[in-house]
Amino acid sequence: MAENTARKGERPPLIAKKPSRKREPNLLAVIDQNGCTGCEACIIFCPVDCIEIVPGADFAQFQQVVEVDIERCIGCALCAKHCPWDTIPMLPYAEGIQKAPGLTLKSICNQKTVEDLGSEVRGQGTEGRNLDK
Ligand code: SF4
Ligand code: SF4
Repeated sequence: MAENTARKGERPPLIAKKPSRKREPNLLAVIDQNGCTGCEACIIFCPVDCIEIVPGADFAQFQQVVEVDIERCIGCALCAKHCPWDTIPMLPYAEGIQKAPGLTLKSICNQKTVEDLGSEVRGQGTEGRNLDK
């Protein structure tokens, strides 16, 4: 099983209460939060309830986006199919956990974000936003 390098540390208690998946999926949904409007359309289609609402990156009180808990996603692609803004790339699992921090602006699942990537890759700042889909 590929190591989830997008996770920063322990799972928050709220997330840990949800049941874990049985095996690693072939595909992973990663929200490109740069294009997410927070419309919540994807949430109702997720069969394992692993899409979480996250405060907006710039105006937390007035905006929201969503984040996939990539340790619970089963890769069914229903969210990507129904996203009206086409901002959920379905990626092979290993590629997904590698690219997730470059597409995540805010996280409540304790996953790495663009800012974390910037601090890890000296001198590259927030270049993670430009990762290829
Ligand atoms: S791919 Fe399926 S399991 Fe994963 S977040 Fe989307 S709807 Fe949920
Ligand atoms: S359906 Fe697309 S735009 Fe709407 S909240 Fe989900 S990812 Fe964001």
